Amino acid sequence: MIAIRQKLLSWYDEAARDLPWRQTRDPYAIWVSEVMLQQTRVETVIPYYERFLASFPTPRDLAEADEDTVLSHWSGLGYYRRARLLHAGVREVVAKYDGEVPEDAEARRALPGVGRYTAGAIGSIAFGKEEPIVDGNVTRVLARLFRIGTQVGSSVTSKRVWEEAARLVPGARPGAFNQALMELGATVCTPKQPSCESCPLADYCEACAHGEVDELPVPRAKKAPSQVKLAAVVATQGRGSEQRVWLLRSEQSLFAGLWGLPMISRNAFDSSDARSALRDAGISASLTRESIGQLDHVLTHRRMQIDVFRATGAKAETSETRRLFLIDELGSIGVSTLTKKLLAAALSQRSGASGSRP
Ligand code: SF4
Repeated sequence: MIAIRQKLLSWYDEAARDLPWRQTRDPYAIWVSEVMLQQTRVETVIPYYERFLASFPTPRDLAEADEDTVLSHWSGLGYYRRARLLHAGVREVVAKYDGEVPEDAEARRALPGVGRYTAGAIGSIAFGKEEPIVDGNVTRVLARLFRIGTQVGSSVTSKRVWEEAARLVPGARPGAFNQALMELGATVCTPKQPSCESCPLADYCEACAHGEVDELPVPRAKKAPSQVKLAAVVATQGRGSEQRVWLLRSEQSLFAGLWGLPMISRNAFDSSDARSALRDAGISASLTRESIGQLDHVLTHRRMQIDVFRATGAKAETSETRRLFLIDELGSIGVSTLTKKLLAAALSQRSGASGSRP
């Protein structure tokens, strides 16, 4: 174990990529970066991370911001639940710990949205604690290094990988060590065609010794993405620079907390679907008869085919979850990439046009 640690740390000191969150040991900044990096590529995260910390440099700044402002800084990163949980977690840090992220592991893990991985990342990187972390990259490296032949995602694999990570982390610079494991997985021990010839752990790697690198880790069974057909309505009021659109604050977990268009599953496959979406939203408007186009949107486990309808002269009562927004102000509120795509598609069409494809 000691030899593996030393080899990996020496390699990391030479090969580590210069990433903005590696310039700090501020637990709040590490927390933000780790939440953003879940399910999202490093290159995508960098500008979001920099913008987010420029707007909310301390836990107190984030805690005091309203949810729309926070979500607008997340717009485009996806998985918006992460942002809401981060916001809730940071608010708790301000309320309970005077704005200081707790050093105590139990207290950290009790914060909203902070699981074992995030708590370990903050603990080891910011506070120098010997706490393990396991993500997809670490799982792959350890499954190969220790020739773990059980399926990724199973409880037996998860238990074993966390145990191996916990055995490896004690010693000098636990934060750097954890980052080194992740870095090795991201840049050398990659899912396809890993660079074993230049790997610092090649001498200790059991998968490599047994010629099983391509077989490990054993992937989880893939679920085919579900297909959903939807109707969305872009219901506006006014024209030109005064044009406004009705948006609803979504209750669905997928886009929870974000503002989106009235949308409904397609049943009848004519404009009655769109009428139902407007009725459910409490909006009265003059609707185009046919869809003005169709748009495909793919999420990790869902393939959405959305028919876009246009409605003008739209009226409704404003409420907590239903508001009229100036088109020009949409950049400053939390809307999903899907909503932006639908609006761009619909508003580039002339109102009342039919049969075209945005
Ligand atoms: S030797 Fe190859 S398979 Fe083993 S840890 Fe290194 S890159 Fe991964």
